[in-house]
Amino acid sequence: ESLIDIKDIGRKYVIGTEVIHALKSVSLSIKKGEFVALMGPSGSGKSTLMNILGCLDTPTKGEYILNGTNVSHMSENQLADVRNKEIGFVFQTFNLLPRSTSLDNVALPLIYAGLKKKDRENRAQAALESVGLGTRVMHKPNELSGGQRQRVAVARALINNPSIILADEPTGNLDTKTSVEIMGLLEEIHSKGNTIILVTHEEDIAQHAHRIVRMRDGLIENDYVNTDIKSVS
Ligand code: ADP
Ligand code: ADP
Repeated sequence: ESLIDIKDIGRKYVIGTEVIHALKSVSLSIKKGEFVALMGPSGSGKSTLMNILGCLDTPTKGEYILNGTNVSHMSENQLADVRNKEIGFVFQTFNLLPRSTSLDNVALPLIYAGLKKKDRENRAQAALESVGLGTRVMHKPNELSGGQRQRVAVARALINNPSIILADEPTGNLDTKTSVEIMGLLEEIHSKGNTIILVTHEEDIAQHAHRIVRMRDGLIENDYVNTDIKSVS
């Protein structure tokens, strides 16, 4: 029983008379609790695949079954609902609201979930404590370090108990020491049973994952269990 079941998907972009096959034929099954790194050179299709995995886009052929639901042919509104329920996003550039506190940034997804203000704040406070930012709840992003901003983003990604965490180059804007700290945080989240899919260019970062999928030219070139897992702790 897979959490993610992708069967022979393709994604083409048509620009005028040009057709770009960003994904040619990709099949991928991911079980609950896996920690997967997605690698590959620029232009190999990683962003296209992540956009589909995150229900930001749909394939132009094949099927994507997420948590038992076929999301391949959904409308924008249906996809937005699935995203809010199932996916937590972490980005290279943090994507926090600059004028909002850590607490408000983390509580934001709970507005869509329909929780009352007090409940949202209590949940966000607990989430910030769980990522080690209990003393930074009223700070705004520009009052935090890069690593602290990414911790806020991780707390926000987790707040709805999503089925999957999608982290796109989460250490791309961080120095080596801070990158290792963030990978330690992702390891901790994984150890609690969460499913994580991570895109990275860096071999060292990918080595924290338990499975490595390498793409090339819109295809999966290689998919293997990482027997040499690097752990922060
Ligand atoms: P990254 O590889 O850093 O994630 P992007 O996904 O933004 O970068 O872009 C990767 C490649 O896809 C680039 O070569 C870019 O020119 C191309 N690309 C992205 N979006 C578009 C678009 N809307 N139209 C045409 N080409 C695009
Ligand atoms: P990666 O993330 O591995 O760099 P992408 O998924 O961004 O790869 O791109 C795969 C291919 O699809 C590239 O040839 C890229 O130029 C093209 N591409 C990506 N996004 C678009 C888009 N929105 N419109 C047109 N072409 C795109």
